[in-house]
Amino acid sequence: MEPEKNHNFALDVALCCIKFFEKYFGSKLPLRKLDLLAVPKMIAGAMENPGLLIFQADSLLITTKTIFVEKIHIALTIAHEIAHQWFGNSVSISWWSDMWVKEAFATLLQHLAIDEVYPDWNIFDWFFSRFTRTAFKSDFVGGSVLKEIAPGKEHEAFNPLSYSKGATILLHLQQKLGKDTFRNRVRALVNDNAGNTITTEDVIESLGEKETLMPWLEQDGYPIVTVTVVNWIEDNLTIEISQRSSVCYSISNYH
Ligand SMILES: [Zn+2]
Repeated sequence: MEPEKNHNFALDVALCCIKFFEKYFGSKLPLRKLDLLAVPKMIAGAMENPGLLIFQADSLLITTKTIFVEKIHIALTIAHEIAHQWFGNSVSISWWSDMWVKEAFATLLQHLAIDEVYPDWNIFDWFFSRFTRTAFKSDFVGGSVLKEIAPGKEHEAFNPLSYSKGATILLHLQQKLGKDTFRNRVRALVNDNAGNTITTEDVIESLGEKETLMPWLEQDGYPIVTVTVVNWIEDNLTIEISQRSSVCYSISNYH
C-alpha cells in the first residue's frame, strides 16, 4: 500500500511564500483566493493558472517516504507558481519571444523566497548546481535568451535558456546592483505595469543596466577566462589572463 499523501507541508510553504512576495513586491496577492490542486499526471510539473495552481501530485504532496531533495523540489515549485501570480499573471508578456521575462524572474524569485523561508537549506547552492550549470551547458549548443518565436512554434519558448540562463543573468544583476536596489526596480516594474503586458524593452527600462543585460541576453555562449601563473616568487606574482568564447570550445572539455 502506498504511504498516505499529505498537504500540510505544501500549505505551509504556500502561506510563507505569499507573505514573502507581498513584502517583496510591496503589494497584496493580486487575487481574492488562491487554490492549489494536485492531479495524478500532467505534462508540465505545475501550471500557474490565476487563482488555481495545478501541480502533478509528486510536485505538491509529501509522504513519510519523501526525501529532502524532493521537499526542495516541491517548495521551489510552489514558490515558482506563486511568484507567477505577480510576475506572469498580474503582469504578463506580449508574445512568446519574451518568455524569459516571466520564467527567469519566477525562477530567481522562487529561490529568494525559499532562501528566506528555509535559510538553513542554502538554496543558492542548489541554484548554482542546477540552474547556473544548466545555463552553461545549454549555452554550449548555442542560441540566445532572446529568441524570435513564430506562430505555431510556441513550444520553442520553453527552453533552458529562458529559465536557467535568464535567472542566472538576473542573479548577476542583483549582485551588481545590491539586493535592495534590484528589489525596488523589480517592484516598480511589476506594480507600475499591473494588469498589462510587458516586453524585454520594458524590463531594460525599469532595471536599467542595458549594457550589462543585453550582451548576455542577445549573445550565445559565455567567456571562458584562463588565468595562468607565469611567475610567483615570494610576494611577486605575475599572471597572464586570456579570454575566449565557450562557443568555440569543444563540448568534450565541459565538465
Ligand atoms: Zn514558470
